[in-house]
Amino acid sequence: MDSLCIFCGSSFGDSPAYRQEAARFGTALAQRGIDLVYGGSDAGLMGITARAVLEQHGRVTGIITRELYERTRDLEVSELIIVDSMHERKASMYARSDAFAALPGGIGTLEELLESFTWNQLGIHQKPVGVFNIQGFFTPLLSLLDHLTEHQFLPAVQREQLLCSDDPNALLDMLGSRKES
Ligand code: AMP
Repeated sequence: MDSLCIFCGSSFGDSPAYRQEAARFGTALAQRGIDLVYGGSDAGLMGITARAVLEQHGRVTGIITRELYERTRDLEVSELIIVDSMHERKASMYARSDAFAALPGGIGTLEELLESFTWNQLGIHQKPVGVFNIQGFFTPLLSLLDHLTEHQFLPAVQREQLLCSDDPNALLDMLGSRKES
């Protein structure tokens, strides 16, 4: 795995653990020489993770729409790509990443995570997808996915594709070793 696209909150969340762990995740990425691809903003956990990579001299590519760029604070990243639409942004993020991971966030994060997981199911891409489960943040979502499987709306074999750990290095190991499905 040379590059990882992350989806995460444009807010900080209610616990200092989210910031600490997002920074730990960014540091682990840089130490492993994995390039970060993300939404390009300095907001919330997005900024924390990207800053941690840059502080360790890692490479960060931000991909942002012109509209978001003009109304949010950006970060001095290694490469900033400004696109016209959210669809173009997603296509660029997908093309530039070997895997996807979500950190805690809101509906934007959920939408991006579930789309990348759905596209994996549809075979639009074969890249691994995981969640960094800081303090069990994603456990309710994982339970909902198990519920879908129990009721035969999500095949068990697809459910198993979603990787999960509360340890950055363990998650990166899993994402890096998972063969394209
Ligand atoms: P949310 O989880 O609702 O805070 O949304 C975060 C996700 O939506 C991120 O992964 C970004 O891709 C996108 N996003 C939300 N707000 C911004 C912003 N101000 N700048 C860039 N991307 C954003």
